[in-house]
Amino acid sequence: MSISPDSRVAVVTGASSGIGEATARTLAAQGFHVVVGARRLDRLQKLADEIGGTALELDVTDEDSVEAFTTVLPRVDVLINNAGGAKGLAPVTEAVEDDWRWMWETNVIGTLRVTKALIPKLIASGDGLIVTVTSVAAFEAYDNGAGYTSAKHAQAVLHRTLRGELLGQPVRLTEIAPGAVETEFSLVRFEGDRERADKVYEGITPLVAQDIAEIIGFVASRPSHVDLDQIIVKPRDQASAGRFHRVTD
Ligand code: NAP
Repeated sequence: MSISPDSRVAVVTGASSGIGEATARTLAAQGFHVVVGARRLDRLQKLADEIGGTALELDVTDEDSVEAFTTVLPRVDVLINNAGGAKGLAPVTEAVEDDWRWMWETNVIGTLRVTKALIPKLIASGDGLIVTVTSVAAFEAYDNGAGYTSAKHAQAVLHRTLRGELLGQPVRLTEIAPGAVETEFSLVRFEGDRERADKVYEGITPLVAQDIAEIIGFVASRPSHVDLDQIIVKPRDQASAGRFHRVTD
């Protein structure tokens, strides 16, 4: 990996689409050398070529993949824990264990693995930043969403715990908790069912990935003594995880 010695390095997990992709573009425009990770390497490579970054295959649910990804990085100043998502929308009485496993492996254990492996490099940078993209689902429970809300709560508690454990180290931690953002999120949640996915955003003006990327860019460009701890961001049309103002004709 060729990175100029005076470049600051930002790592973005889950950068092959949505919030991660937009964040990679924003951080690159701010001058970071951005290392993008996800499973779909073809998309990542295209993005890395456009932004002058580095594409590396990453499956956060696979220990060996995380080890290979994190070991090869010469330095890390910023880590964006973004890889994640939801599978299904079912009441607890009909919970699908494989969906729960996917959500916990990806959002919780995945964030743990990558973060744990990169903390020494973030500390060594002298001015590290960890941003974890949780969700309003990390603050609220909603019907049929327990697999996702429990995973996002756990991911958030992992992140918030580090805020205390890393106190005294040169590492800032920011949790970003978005409401509805129109990305591939719902398409993944509903196994490619486009009609069902589109219904999530019907009659509202949702956030877009760029909205979140700009917030992350703002966080990453604060002076090093300023730690934006938690940011909850929702569309104007959303009051809580399950409460929307929808315009229907
Ligand atoms: P998205 O468009 O589906 O993007 C998800 C990203 O995660 C993709 O790049 C995907 O890449 C990556 N990913 C999934 N499993 C992975 C794995 N095992 N290893 C590595 N990367 C993996 O959805 P998004 O909305 O941008 O989601 C980004 C984050 O925001 C997620 O943590 C999500 O929970 C959170 N969030 C989303 C919303 C929303 O409404 N969209 C709201 C709140 C929070 P590959 O498939 O190529 O691996």
